[in-house]
Amino acid sequence: MEPIVYVLDEQVRDLLTHLTSAGTLEEGVAFGFDDWTVFHAYTEKPFTTPSGIVCPCFAVRADTAGMVDETRLTSSVRARTDLSERPAVVLVVDTHSDGTPQCRALIVSHSKMAAADTRFVPRRSELYSRNAGLLETSALAAKKVVVVGLGSGGSPVALDLARAGVGQFTLIDFDRLELGNISRHVCGINDLGRYKTLAVRDQILQKNPYASVTTMEVNINQALAPVEEAVAKCDLLIVASDNDQSRFNLNQMSLNHNRTALYGRAITRAAGGDVLRVRPWTGPCYNCVFSSGLIDGREEEMSQKRQALAVLPAYVEEDKANAMIQVGLSSDIAPIANMMVKIALLELSRGQETGISTLDEDLKADFYIWANRREEAYAAWPLMNYKWTRPSILRWYGARVERDPQCLVCGGHLKADTPLQGIVQ
Ligand SMILES: [Zn+2]
Repeated sequence: MEPIVYVLDEQVRDLLTHLTSAGTLEEGVAFGFDDWTVFHAYTEKPFTTPSGIVCPCFAVRADTAGMVDETRLTSSVRARTDLSERPAVVLVVDTHSDGTPQCRALIVSHSKMAAADTRFVPRRSELYSRNAGLLETSALAAKKVVVVGLGSGGSPVALDLARAGVGQFTLIDFDRLELGNISRHVCGINDLGRYKTLAVRDQILQKNPYASVTTMEVNINQALAPVEEAVAKCDLLIVASDNDQSRFNLNQMSLNHNRTALYGRAITRAAGGDVLRVRPWTGPCYNCVFSSGLIDGREEEMSQKRQALAVLPAYVEEDKANAMIQVGLSSDIAPIANMMVKIALLELSRGQETGISTLDEDLKADFYIWANRREEAYAAWPLMNYKWTRPSILRWYGARVERDPQCLVCGGHLKADTPLQGIVQ
């Protein structure tokens, strides 16, 4: 089988506009995999942190007859770089008579030169063609989403939105990826020690190379102004942070700028979790719901050593902090993240007739509860059985929550022309 070389369609187009003379070698970079059977070639700096083994890469324009002198090309590549350990990828670019870009790759090693099966990574419109019908992907490409908290809850939400075609992200988190996070996080060992924001940005770009991703490595409780600036410009705020203070702060920002917000979280060891949608001024706000006693007995999941150290006295040893970190399984977080994605896509697609529009009739509630196991806050729930009249584990429940006219956050701001239309009577 011929080795396969992937190149980005847009990079080849760019190359053709500035590589005007035939025969000149332009340097790029390639990454080789699996005994040099697959290569990813870039003519410009890769947009994300790549994997694979770094290999030399050159691009050259064919002459007017669409030809290159392969013998001369091979010897000039060998003169430019040492090929004893790894081969080089050479991209021969050209424009077809109808104007479409052409690119064929050659693999040059120290002993031979061989043609490769060259494949284009297509433009945006083709990447998401399979979502068509269910989602208006061109509209989603223009949507801006702010995701606060890029842990095991926030990172899959961000990634799934990118997969659906959402095009603009601001990722906010100041934690770095720890060894203990790996089993549940979308990022792996290769990203250890990196800021979660930057590692997740790379994952998003792997799914949607045309996404625009801004990152902020800040503690939002200490950087309110820049975070609020990002919230003011977004279409949807997604909150998967791990502390109440940040959620109350973000609630205030979402109300200040009239931005719909989604709050999702898991409780201890991910026995369950909940998702709250806040439509400012029409439905309950975060404070309306979480000051009402609804959350009694639900202890927040603790997944970072930072959280444990924050609640322990200074003299307590690190081992004690490590022992406090009790996390659930990735499969226990997944339903909560999945629900957040569904509601997020519904909110972002509002006003358009798409395949998911009918969900609007189902997802009437603003607060949703999920239980993975009969423990913690759900210990008293009856066994899951054939009767559907009682709440059971592994099913979603939409809870009727109301806007509190006495709410200290949104109640006092009521305007005369703002009826409490979000209240379910
Ligand atoms: Zn409120």
